[in-house]
Amino acid sequence: MQKLKIGDIIIDVIQKEIKNIHLSVHPPTGRVRISAPSRINLDTLRIYAISKINWIRKHQKKMRGQERITPRDYIERESHYYLGKRYLLRVFEEEAKPKVILRHETIDLYVRKNSNKKKRQDVLEEWYRNNLRLIANEFIEKWEKIIKVRTNEFGIKRMKTKWGTCNQKAKRIWLNLELAKKPIQCTEFIVVHELMHLIERKHNEVFVALMNKFMPQWKHYKEELNKFPLSHETWDY
Ligand SMILES: [Zn+2]
Repeated sequence: MQKLKIGDIIIDVIQKEIKNIHLSVHPPTGRVRISAPSRINLDTLRIYAISKINWIRKHQKKMRGQERITPRDYIERESHYYLGKRYLLRVFEEEAKPKVILRHETIDLYVRKNSNKKKRQDVLEEWYRNNLRLIANEFIEKWEKIIKVRTNEFGIKRMKTKWGTCNQKAKRIWLNLELAKKPIQCTEFIVVHELMHLIERKHNEVFVALMNKFMPQWKHYKEELNKFPLSHETWDY
């Protein structure tokens, strides 16, 4: 296969009997490929690729951004998500008990002067946790009645690889704190999924049939959740 090198970008060139040039960027690493008609020479393709360099970089960045855990700094104008919507963070310093106020476009974080990153993170996480607890509690009450199951307790914690877990014997459900950042239907889906494990422990046909019966659109919510990796907090377009 022929290759073009433009700066730090390497492009695979595939020439075949086609009519048009086709440029594509491929996940997960952002590999670039040009398919081109055989009659076009490499110099012409180089010029073409250079003219598309911004487009290539933009898509590579987007793709790699989705693979990466983006640490947050809890500073002014940083993006933070709540219930699937993006907000800008505003930080206010005042000598009072820390608090968070959700506004139309912003999440306003009130902290004491010289608060460090860890402190800011703790305040915001506590807010996420409290809100998610209220939301999850309503969904659990609603769906316990519909599915006719009972939990003994539920909790919210940080988890790296799971959106939720269910201990069938203890009738205990854990939900991932990250759900607070996802659309609310996603939390409802995870609640229903975990409650269903009280009936069927495995992800088998019985389980799928139950999900289809009680929440026919569950696959849509699953896709929504998996669009971005678990610990991903924000990404640039
Ligand atoms: Zn499950």
